[in-house]
Amino acid sequence: MANGVLVYVEIRGGELTNSSWESVAAGQALAAGLGTTARAVLIGDGAGSNAAKVAAKDLAEVITIEDAKLATYTPDGFAAAMVAAIRDCDPAWVVFSHSYQVRDFAPRVAARLDRALVGDVIKLKVEGGNVTLVRQIFQGKINADVTCRTDAPGMISLQSGAYRTDAARDGSAPTRALSVDLGSVRIRWTVEERFKDVKGAVDLSAATRIVSVGRGIKSDENLGLVNELAAALEAEVAASRPICDSGWLPMDRQIGSSGQTVTPQLYVAVGISGAIQHVVGMKNSGTIVAINKDKEAPIFDLADFGVVGDLFEVVPALIKKLKE
Ligand SMILES: Cc1cc2nc3c(=O)[nH]c(=O)nc-3n(C[C@H](O)[C@H](O)[C@H](O)COP(=O)(O)OP(=O)(O)OC[C@H]3O[C@@H](n4cnc5c(N)ncnc54)[C@H](O)[C@@H]3O)c2cc1C
Repeated sequence: MANGVLVYVEIRGGELTNSSWESVAAGQALAAGLGTTARAVLIGDGAGSNAAKVAAKDLAEVITIEDAKLATYTPDGFAAAMVAAIRDCDPAWVVFSHSYQVRDFAPRVAARLDRALVGDVIKLKVEGGNVTLVRQIFQGKINADVTCRTDAPGMISLQSGAYRTDAARDGSAPTRALSVDLGSVRIRWTVEERFKDVKGAVDLSAATRIVSVGRGIKSDENLGLVNELAAALEAEVAASRPICDSGWLPMDRQIGSSGQTVTPQLYVAVGISGAIQHVVGMKNSGTIVAINKDKEAPIFDLADFGVVGDLFEVVPALIKKLKE
């Protein structure tokens, strides 16, 4: 009988992706809720060399699949390898992160196994052995509870930031190389060089402090105020989407579902309402400070410290205090 949880751990450019650790954390939580164990599978070049890092987590086993046909990512090759891993493990649940690569090949895996794939899940709830998946609908305005009615395995992909990377528990797992016969698999795609949205993009995910600016700033001419606050806090500057859409800051500064996901120790939201698409990118920050003139702004539901007031008065006062 299908049992346990299988987590797909993604390798990009030879390195494990950050969101894979979130999937490991989710897989562990799901397994614990079901009273079972989680395993991980790594596919392609770098699977073997990265296995030890994953094996240092609390998992029952780490499986690696390497083959000449998996040397570079292709949906045909990776789907075939993942199907083989699922057949080998017979898990009750398969957990992916909702990355571009997963969006490319995981539906193929689900279709081949005739199982459901629930995408972009933000939360897993386990009660009495039943698993409910929470995903957003109507552009994030409503959270929907979803259950899988197909036979096992249920498959899910998790929205970036849904689980914390540091929630992945340490442990010690054996590793196993799974040999898969891909001889009959026809690779119909050639993957070209990865494109980068922005040249020299900043990696805000590594920032410890972020001052993030929203539409409350009114005009790009006022951005100096935010830059000054960021300088006083030795923080990086980030923004909500409208600021980047307007070209006031480059796209690589955008936080949210279509921007970066960050977990700084300090996140200061200046004139940001707290729309769900923004919040998913910063909700796991250590301390959240919000400055907003509307006391009903949703960002205050999340903030550890809130200042209800006009940012054009609050921010200069804050800068003055910080400089003192
Ligand atoms: C598919 C999709 C993807 C999206 N992806 C993202 C994403 O990745 N990131 C993102 O941020 N958004 C994203 N959005 C947009 C998102 O829905 C919101 O529209 C956006 O986050 C709002 O930005 P904001 O808070 O800066 O602006 P607003 O919602 O307009 O809020 C401005 C805030 O400033 C306050 N304010 C105004 N004047 C002052 C003042 N003088 N002093 C203090 N406060 C003031 C107001 O009270 C208000 O709360 C996405 C939307 C969709 C549909």
